[in-house]
Amino acid sequence: MTMFPKFSKKREGVNVIGEQKLLQQVSNLILNSEVCTGCGICVESCPEDAIVLGLVGATRRGAVEYAAPVDIDEVKCSYCGVCVVMCPFNALTLKIDGEERLPIVEKEGFPQYDMVADIDDEKCVRCTICNEVCPRDAIVRDVPEFEGSSETGKERQAAIQTKTTFKVDDEKCTLCGICGSICPAITVKHKEFTAESGKVEGEVVWDESRCDACKVCVEACPEECITVEREIVSDKIAGEVDIDQNLCCTCTWCSRNCPTEAITVEKLFEGDIEFAASKCPGGCSTCVDICPANAIYLPSAKPASEMKGVVEPTIAVNKDYCILCGACVNACPGEDIIRLSRTGIRIKGGETDLFRKIKEKLCTPRTSKVKEDTQGSVQLKMMEKA
Ligand code: SF4
Repeated sequence: MTMFPKFSKKREGVNVIGEQKLLQQVSNLILNSEVCTGCGICVESCPEDAIVLGLVGATRRGAVEYAAPVDIDEVKCSYCGVCVVMCPFNALTLKIDGEERLPIVEKEGFPQYDMVADIDDEKCVRCTICNEVCPRDAIVRDVPEFEGSSETGKERQAAIQTKTTFKVDDEKCTLCGICGSICPAITVKHKEFTAESGKVEGEVVWDESRCDACKVCVEACPEECITVEREIVSDKIAGEVDIDQNLCCTCTWCSRNCPTEAITVEKLFEGDIEFAASKCPGGCSTCVDICPANAIYLPSAKPASEMKGVVEPTIAVNKDYCILCGACVNACPGEDIIRLSRTGIRIKGGETDLFRKIKEKLCTPRTSKVKEDTQGSVQLKMMEKA
């Protein structure tokens, strides 16, 4: 006799798929172990305590391939979708009978992150600096390559939107062909020479897409019969730049570096992070490797003359880019080196009782801890509230 519910867990490529089979419903909670940063927000958020942290540093650095940064107990899991809502990296998906669903939002009106990550198309000049600096590949760049930046790129005259006019005074033009021989945008075509007209006939054909408006043809024309004028319709490069909100982690690298201030990004969490650099042994750099926001760095060495009486810091964080996700706290193998305290979460929708409990946990200051109480599960040391 078949007993329900039935549970199973399997790994398919980068996904770890937990399954609950009821008589008339199949629920799957899917963790993308590559996208998961090990921030542990799902661990704090799960109402069933069904998620534990794994070997965050080792898995994120690729030292352990068989495991994911977090482990979900498919039997304890109620398949409510809270972790899916709370994961700031969209590493989790809940499917019910094959369809993406969020029962917690549908049934209880659970709030969701208030994601603010926009590009003002009017201000954007498509330089795509944002695409270069984004640590999560969240900037969608649909801008053609131009010659100079790529061998296969479009010719540079297509780089900015212009309207060029080219006029030949037919009365003066002798179809000598000098303009065509010096410029690839111009072809001078001669008709067959016949005694009927007894003169050179033909036309000057001009290709706007190849014209640079350099006016060499104007200078070269012996009859002074060419005029070229160029009007800049838009000084923007053609194309589109957008933010994929599923990939954006609100680190603000893009908005802080956009030369035209076209980007608005609001961080999901408020609070602070501190590094006790003197406690960091140096040489580990796990936090630098795993930081999803590229906010942690190994300070550049200073000349000895500037270091008199100063201990060189081994590790540092640029708070401008830190998103307070906590992945570094979970991955750090040292004790009390990284201290994280969140004070607020940007959400839309009313706060439910469950959300308030989750928020309280997420806003409890914590610090890194060496000890593993359960094998393979890194425990965090909770700090007393300030
Ligand atoms: S950095 Fe700013 S201006 Fe440049 S492409 Fe991105 S949004 Fe546009």
